[in-house]
Parts: sequence; structure tokens; C-alpha cells
Amino acid sequence: MRILLDPGHGAGAKFNRGSKIGNEGDNTFRMYLIFKKALEKKGFEVGTTRQVITDNPSLASRGQKGKGYDLMLSLHTNAGGGSGVEVWDDVNPKYSNKKLGVVICNAVSTTINIPNRGVKYRKNSSGGNYYGVLRNNYAKNGMIIEFCFHDNFNELKKYLDNLELVANNLANAIAKYYGVEKMENKKFDYKGHWAEKYIEEVKEQGIMTGYDDGDFKPDEKVTRAELAVVAAKILKKN
Ligand SMILES: [Zn+2]
Repeated sequence: MRILLDPGHGAGAKFNRGSKIGNEGDNTFRMYLIFKKALEKKGFEVGTTRQVITDNPSLASRGQKGKGYDLMLSLHTNAGGGSGVEVWDDVNPKYSNKKLGVVICNAVSTTINIPNRGVKYRKNSSGGNYYGVLRNNYAKNGMIIEFCFHDNFNELKKYLDNLELVANNLANAIAKYYGVEKMENKKFDYKGHWAEKYIEEVKEQGIMTGYDDGDFKPDEKVTRAELAVVAAKILKKN
């Protein structure tokens, strides 16, 4: 899995954008560095649209950098006198992923206890994405995360004081989401096997669990150690 992180805007006061602590473009870069590490810990390959904090590529080139990535996340904080986290998803159903947007909003909102404004869509007059980074996105899915309102001092402080926690919880939620997706779409190797209904029963009862990826390898040999585990579980049940 490859994720492209796009820390919004450029460096310095020119990109303050009403932020009560620091500047939006500096804060997004700080978050990017921490979030990248958190995602890498979960096994994602992570790229960026800003190699160094002073980079400020065009919106089009940020989106186009998504080529070959599974997901592009553009990192921002919000302004305009509100409160909470929101996600702007791609308006094109081909690139949209509302389920993942919901997962992201939930993770941020519960981690720092701010309102959940949900997943939103905004079109331009020709029906495409209003936001340039999404309009030009080449990754399989693309969305903008507005982590909190940076013109709300208390909310911004809470967010900045907990960047690491937000990044870790978000990385966990995204990893779990992709894990679950993979499982849902996967045809397990015991489906259609003559012993399918017995296999499902022992899995349900917790007597045999199969492998982490959901497979069972129904025709593999059992070791004495594995048999001992099964026997112990049956004994415990009775
Ligand atoms: Zn922004």
C-alpha cells in the first residue's frame, strides 16, 4: 500500500491563513513528518509532495504526484469560525471513498474530542472537484483532511499538543480499514472445500483460528503442537 501525504501550503507567515498558533503551512508540515512515521510503522509506503518545508508545489503538481499511489491525503487545518474535523472527499465516484473518510473523521474526532463534521463533497460549476488538489489527483482515492479549526485557539492548541497521538490513532484506523477491506474482498481458501461448514464451525467456536489473512490451508498437515492447542481448547470448553 502506497500513501501520498500532501502537507498543505508552503512555509512561513505568508501561509499563516488565520492560524492562532504558528502558520497553517508549517503546522501541516510538522504533522506530515509525524504522520509519515506512524504510517510507516504500520507497513505503508509513504511519499510526499513537499520534500522540505520550504517547498510549495502547485495544486496540480501535488495531485499529479499521486500517480501510482493507492491514496492521497492532503493535510490541512480549517478557518472560518467553526469547530471540528472534516474530510473533503473526491466528488468523482471513481476516486471517492466515503467509508475511509468516515474512518478518518471518527479517529480524529475521538482522539482529541472535537466535533465530527463528517465527509463532504464540493463541486465546481462544471461538476468536477472544487478543490484543485482533488481535481488533479492521480491516486486511486484522494481526500483533504481539515484536522481542526486553526482560528479556534483552544481547538488548535489541543490538536498541536497531541499531534503524535492523532497521527498514531489515525494510522491505526487506516491500517485497520485496509485490512478489513482486504478480508472482505478476499475469497478465503476454504470456500468451496468439502469441509467448509466444519471449518467455519471450528473458527466460530474458537477451536481453530486459521491464519491472520483469513485463510485456513485446509489440506495442510497439522503439527503435534497445533494438535495440542486444539485439544487443550476443546478440553477447556467442556
Ligand atoms: Zn489549508
